[in-house]
Amino acid sequence: MNTEYISTIKNNIKEIQHSLPAEVLLVAAAKTRSPDEVTAAINAGIKIIGYNYVQEAEQMYQIIGKKVQWHMIGHLQRNKVKKAIRLFDMIETIDSVEIAEEVNKQCASIDKIMPVLIEINSGKESNKTGVLPENADELIIYISNLTNLRIQGLMTMGPRFGNPEDARPYFKATKAIFDRINKAKIPYVEMRYLSMGMSNSYQIAIEEGSNIVRIGSALFGERNTQSEVRYV
Ligand SMILES: *Cc1c(COP(=O)(O)O)cnc(C)c1O
Repeated sequence: MNTEYISTIKNNIKEIQHSLPAEVLLVAAAKTRSPDEVTAAINAGIKIIGYNYVQEAEQMYQIIGKKVQWHMIGHLQRNKVKKAIRLFDMIETIDSVEIAEEVNKQCASIDKIMPVLIEINSGKESNKTGVLPENADELIIYISNLTNLRIQGLMTMGPRFGNPEDARPYFKATKAIFDRINKAKIPYVEMRYLSMGMSNSYQIAIEEGSNIVRIGSALFGERNTQSEVRYV
C-alpha cells in the first residue's frame, strides 16, 4: 500500500502550523478525504475538522469520534439541523433567521448551547450563501435573542480568485463588520473568531485579521473534484 501521502500530509501540516501566528486556529477542511487521510492529519496535530455536509461528517465521526472538534463550514440545510447539532461543536455558516431558529429549537430540545459564526456574503455574489454585509447587523441582533445560540464571530468565503491578493478587499470588508459589531457591544454577542482564508488565501486573510483558517488542499493535496458532489 502506498503510504507516502501520510508523510506528505504530516509535512504540510507541520509547515503550515509553523507559519501560523499562535492565536490562529487551523481547521482541516476534510471534504472528500478518506479516513486514513483524516487520521493522518489528526496524528500530525490537527485539532479541528471542518465539513461541508452533515452526512459526510457523520460517517467520519463514527470513525474519529470526539478526539477532535467538529466545525460545520458548509451551507446547512434545515432538514439536516437535527443531526448537525449533535455532531458539530461549532456552526460557522449561520446566515438566515430561518436556519438560526431551527438550530435554536433543536438545540433547546437537547439542552445544548451552540457556538456559531455568522457567514457573510462579502462578495455579494447572488449564487453564494451568507448574509449580505448590509443585513448582517439586523440578523446578528435577532439571533442574539435566541437562547441556545451563542454568536462568537464571523465567517466568509469571499469570491475565489487565481490571485489571492484580489480577495483582500473582501476580507477587509468582513473585518470592518467584525469591528463594528464588536464596538456595538450587543448583549450575548462576542466577536472572538473571524474565519477567513483557505489554501491559496490564508496568509492574506491573516494579515486582514483572520484567526480561523480553513485549509484543505494545502494540507491533503488537490481534491478529486468529481467526488465533491457526492452529498449535494
Ligand atoms: C473546501 C473548503 C475550504 C478549503 O478549501 P481549499 O482551497 O482546499 O483549502 C475552506 N472553506 C470551505 C467552506 C470549503 O468548502
